[in-house]
Parts: sequence; C-alpha cells; structure tokens
Amino acid sequence: MNEAALRTLSERFANVRSRIETVARRYNRSPEEITLVAISKTHPTEILRAALDAGVTDLGENRVQEAEEKIAELGRQAARWHLVGHLQANKARRAVTLFDYIHSLDSPSLAQRLGRLCEEEGREELPVLIQIDFAGEKNKTGIDPRQLPALLKATAACKRLRLIGLMTLPPYFENADCARPFFKALRELRDQLQLQGSFGERTGELSMGMSHDFEIAIEEGATMVRVGTAIFGERNQNG
Ligand SMILES: *Cc1c(COP(=O)(O)O)cnc(C)c1O
Repeated sequence: MNEAALRTLSERFANVRSRIETVARRYNRSPEEITLVAISKTHPTEILRAALDAGVTDLGENRVQEAEEKIAELGRQAARWHLVGHLQANKARRAVTLFDYIHSLDSPSLAQRLGRLCEEEGREELPVLIQIDFAGEKNKTGIDPRQLPALLKATAACKRLRLIGLMTLPPYFENADCARPFFKALRELRDQLQLQGSFGERTGELSMGMSHDFEIAIEEGATMVRVGTAIFGERNQNG
C-alpha cells in the first residue's frame, strides 16, 4: 500500500470519527459510548492492517470464510472482530471461535446451535445481537419482530449466549433521512426489551447506521455504527 493510500485511509477514518463526535455532542451524548465498527469486507488484509495502524479497534466482516483468512493473518487479538452478515448453520462453529460479537442472530435454531457450540468449543460467553428485519425484504436477513418472543426465549435458555443488543439494516434510501423510522423503531424495541430485562442489567446496544446514514442513526440512539465505504472507499465487489 503506498503512502498516499495510507494517508487517505487514516484521513477518512479521522473524518468519520470527528463526524461521530459532532453528532454525539449535539445530542448530549458521549462519543465514547459509540463504537465505530469498520466494515472491511472485500478489502485485502494489508488494508485492514493499515486501518489498525490508523487507530481502528473494531473490524466487521460479513462472511465467515473471508474473515477466517484475515484473522489468520492479522491475529485473533489484533482487533475486536464483529460478524455483521448472515450466519449459516454450517459456519457457526467457526464463527464461535473467530468473532468477539455476532450482530446477526436471527433464529431460535441458530441460538441453540451457537449455545451448544460455545460449550463444545469452550467459549465461556458469546455476546450476540439480534438482527431485526422491519421491512420484510426477501433478500435480507433478520427476524420479523413478531417472531421475537420465541427467539428471546431460545437465547435466554443458552447460558453462554449473552444478548447485548439489537441490530438492523434498513432498505437503502437515496435520502438517508428515510431510514430514520427504522432506527427509531429499533430504539423503541430495545427500550421495551430493556424494561423486560432481556439485556440483564444493561441498556442494550443499538447496532445501526452505515456510511450514508450513521449520523441519523446516532441521532436516534445508535451505540454501534457499522461503517465501510466512508473509511475504506468504494468496494469493487458486491459486499
Ligand atoms: C457492508 C455492510 C455495512 C457497511 O456498509 P457501508 O455502506 O459500506 O458503510 C454495514 N453493515 C452491514 C451488515 C454490511 O453488510
């Protein structure tokens, strides 16, 4: 990676960080309560290494296989690793050993499987977020909020899974403000689950907001933003 590319990456990262701080302050929130997860899918390991050098602490990937290769090169401890894409049953075992956080829990059977695999793999605790699909889009993953009670029950039954929050991925809108109702709905759902004790003593994280709408997500209460393009530039493959 050449000097100029490195500089661009660290400038973009600094820019995203400062935009997060600006919105947070405007809404009387501490920027420290917002985790910036840099979504590095499709980018080669050397770019991820440069991102870590630039100060990135959290990396997000959407495919287990791709993440596994990168983690093998960079090291399991090099970052906090987040899985943000759909998790297939046959990749669950590897996901349990590779990731610090799974944002895409979306079915009772996946919860049960993850719980069992944590025991088999000696993983004491796996923090998970439930991915909510408000729009009912066929090509997207996540659970219909009406099916949430069964998933909450299955998750709570797995002692090694720790439900730490909710995640959502709204449909793409040209006008980012159109995503606001989805962010708001996720916050309201989180508040409701918090009241019923689904997150234990904790408030419950809100994983929402991407490159083009993370500021709006923060206005609506995001505590984890998943930003790819604004840090790494355009992807040339479909991520
Ligand atoms: C790719 C991806 C992102 C990041 O998208 P950008 O628009 O590049 O910021 C965030 N969340 C998920 C689930 C993704 O798959």
